[in-house]
Amino acid sequence: MKKKPAVFLDRDGTLMVNIDYIHHPEKVKLFAKTVDSLKKLRKAGFYLVIVTNQSGAARGYFKIADIHSVNRHLQKLLKAQGASLDAFFYCPHHVKGVVKSLTKECDCRKPRTGMVKQALKKFPIDLSRSYVVGDNRGDVELAKNAGMAAGILVRTGHGRRAQHELKNLKMKNKHVVAGIAQATKWILKHQGEQLL
Ligand SMILES: [Mg+2]
Ligand SMILES: [Zn+2]
Repeated sequence: MKKKPAVFLDRDGTLMVNIDYIHHPEKVKLFAKTVDSLKKLRKAGFYLVIVTNQSGAARGYFKIADIHSVNRHLQKLLKAQGASLDAFFYCPHHVKGVVKSLTKECDCRKPRTGMVKQALKKFPIDLSRSYVVGDNRGDVELAKNAGMAAGILVRTGHGRRAQHELKNLKMKNKHVVAGIAQATKWILKHQGEQLL
């Protein structure tokens, strides 16, 4: 199958209003531009893949099943408006957890690349033409670690704080924009350019 690029999307604070350790589906609130942005990226030929750190599972704040129910609800809200995501990957681990089976140094917690590798097993993705969009430094750094075209920080969620943490990240293709709509605009403008 011919390879396609992907946009790896953070979930909380990027597609929906950030609530730290959110685990109730009814609290999911999409940003106003999320549906329109996902539709545009889809139309441009990108896989749309969620990569989300959910250390609240390791910390005992919620169960793995709660991660799935929030993801399912997010997908349902999107589909009701004609948008959708292709897959959801999450890291439930943390080194300082309390749930024994989830307390470890893993290879999937962003900025590590484990979730991207899981996605590569599922889809024929061209990483060199792919992007990460998120509201934390680790999201932008993931793009670098996985050899993607660029990492884009949105100033929603934790992004306003995180933009200061980006300054000491040695990386050529890091960009800061207001939100998911501007990130989408940036990607559509720059896609196909040889950035690396
Ligand atoms: Mg986030
Ligand atoms: Zn992990």
